[in-house]
Amino acid sequence: MQVYDIAIIGAGPAGTMAAIRSGQLEKNILLIERNNSIGRKILLSGKGRCNVTNILSLEEFITKFGRRGAFLRSAFSKFFNQELIDFFKAKGLDLKVERQGRVFPVTDRAASIVEVLMRYLLENKVTIVYATEVIEIKKEKNSFRLFFAGGRQTAARRVILATGGSSFSFTGSRGNGFTIARKVGHTIVPLMPGLVPLRTEEAWVKGLQGLTLKNIRLTFTAGNKKITSDIGELLFTHFGVSGPLILDLSSSVLELFERDKKVSLCIDLKPGLTPVQLEDRLLREFRDSGGKNIKNVLKGILPLKLIEVFVNLLRLDYNKKSNQVTKEERRAMVSLLKSFCLRITGSLPIEEAMVTCGGVSTKEIDPRTMESRFVAGLYFAGEIIDASASSGGYNLQQAFSTGYLAGESAAVSMKTSGHQDTRTPGHQDTRTPGHQDTRTPGHQDTRTPGHQVTRTPGHQDTRSPGHQVTRKRTSPFFSLVTL
Ligand SMILES: Cc1cc2nc3c(=O)[nH]c(=O)nc-3n(C[C@H](O)[C@H](O)[C@H](O)COP(=O)(O)OP(=O)(O)OC[C@H]3O[C@@H](n4cnc5c(N)ncnc54)[C@H](O)[C@@H]3O)c2cc1C
Repeated sequence: MQVYDIAIIGAGPAGTMAAIRSGQLEKNILLIERNNSIGRKILLSGKGRCNVTNILSLEEFITKFGRRGAFLRSAFSKFFNQELIDFFKAKGLDLKVERQGRVFPVTDRAASIVEVLMRYLLENKVTIVYATEVIEIKKEKNSFRLFFAGGRQTAARRVILATGGSSFSFTGSRGNGFTIARKVGHTIVPLMPGLVPLRTEEAWVKGLQGLTLKNIRLTFTAGNKKITSDIGELLFTHFGVSGPLILDLSSSVLELFERDKKVSLCIDLKPGLTPVQLEDRLLREFRDSGGKNIKNVLKGILPLKLIEVFVNLLRLDYNKKSNQVTKEERRAMVSLLKSFCLRITGSLPIEEAMVTCGGVSTKEIDPRTMESRFVAGLYFAGEIIDASASSGGYNLQQAFSTGYLAGESAAVSMKTSGHQDTRTPGHQDTRTPGHQDTRTPGHQDTRTPGHQVTRTPGHQDTRSPGHQVTRKRTSPFFSLVTL
C-alpha cells in the first residue's frame, strides 16, 4: 500500500490550506474529500460573497473567540489576516474591506476564493481524491491507516483532520470527524448550534415575517439577569427572530438553555431616545396630528407591519383618535417602545446553524503546532476544533490559520523525524482490484519497488503491469483520483 507523507481529511478552507502549506514543504500530500469538489461551504459563505477575514488587530480578533481565543494566538501569529490577503493577491485576486472590517473578494464571488485555492493545490502537486469518505483512522507504529467507506484504505505518516463541524451537512461536514477523533481518544466538547436563528413563544411573529428592524438594541435576560446586549439589526421569521445580531448573540443564549434558564429578548426600538425624550416626542406627534387615529400617528415612529402588533399588545383600539390617548396609555407606549419583549424558547437545530460550537477539546491540542497531545502525528484544523466565533470573517480566518499551522507543523515534523519510508520491503498494494486512478493528465508517478513518489509534469506511469490507470476530468480544475 502506498504510504503518503501527509494525508489531510476534508477539503474545506482548513484542509485545503493545510494541503497547500504542507505541499509547499513536502512532496507526497494526499487531500481526501467526500464531495466531488473542494470548498463547498466556502461557496455559500457571506451569502455567496465569502467574508474571508476581518481587518481587526490580533488582540481584538482573539477576543471574538471568547475563552478559546488564547488557544488560537500561535496560529494567528503564524498566518493572519494580512498574510491571507497577500495569499489571494499573489494569485491576482484582490480583496476589499467593507463595514465592520469585513473582507471580501473584489469579485463579490466566493467561487473566486475556491478557484485560487485550487490553483495553489495544483501548483503544489497535492493529490486530491474526491468522493471518498474517511470513516476511521488507526495509528500504527510510524504511520496511520485510513479506512474509507466501502472498504478501501490507504496509509500516511501524518494525518490532519479538517472535517469541519456538523452544520449545513449537505456541504459535506456531517460530523463524522468527531467520531474519528473520539475513537483515537479525544474528548469532544458537546456540540451546540452557533450563529443560529432563535425560536420565540409568540406566534404573532409569523405575521411580521420578513420585517427587518435596524439600529435597535437587543438585550437578552435570564430571570432578572442581563446576559448580553448590543445594537444592530433584527429580522422576524415565521418561527422567531434572526439577522446578524441575533446570530452573533445566539451562542451565549443557548448556553442558558443547557442550564434550563428562561430566556427573554427585549428590543429597545428607540435606543437613541431616553424614555422622557420619547414621551415628549409622542406628545408632540399626538398634539400635531389633530384628530388622526393612532395607527396613522404611529406610522412616523414604527414600521407599518409592526403597528398592529404594537397596538394589540397595548390592548388599544386601533382606530382610537390620538387626541383621546390618555397619559397612562402614552406611558405604556413609551414602555413598550423601549422594551418590546419576546420569550425565547430555543433555536433552530445545529444543521441550520452557521457554525458548530464545541468539538475537539483545545486542551488536547498543542496550540503551537495543532498536533494532538495524545496521538503523535495527528493534527487538527478548522471547525472540528472547539473554537468558533461570531460572524465577521473570523471563522474562515480560524480555518485558514489553523490549517496553515497544522500543514506546516506536520511537514516540518517529517523533516525533523528524518522522513523515513516506513513501508515494509516488498510491500503490497492492497487496493481493491479494478480500482481507478483518475489523476489529471500530465501527472507523473515514478514509483518503483521500494520507491519514493515524485510527481512532475509530463510523466510516465511505471507501475507494474496489470495495474489499471484511467483518467477522468470533471472540470479544468478538478481531477478525480480514486484510491
Ligand atoms: C451558510 C454559511 C455561511 C458562512 N459564511 C461565513 C463567512 O462569510 N465568513 C466566515 O468567516 N465564516 C462563514 N461561515 C463559517 C465557515 O464557512 C466555516 O467555519 C468554515 O467553512 C469551516 O471550515 P472547515 O474547513 O473547518 O470545514 P468545512 O468548510 O465544513 O469543510 C470540511 C470538509 O471536509 C469534508 N469532510 C467531512 N468529513 C469528511 C470525511 N469523513 N471524509 C472526507 N471528507 C470529509 C467535507 O465534505 C468538507 O468539504 C459560514 C457558514 C455557513 C454554513
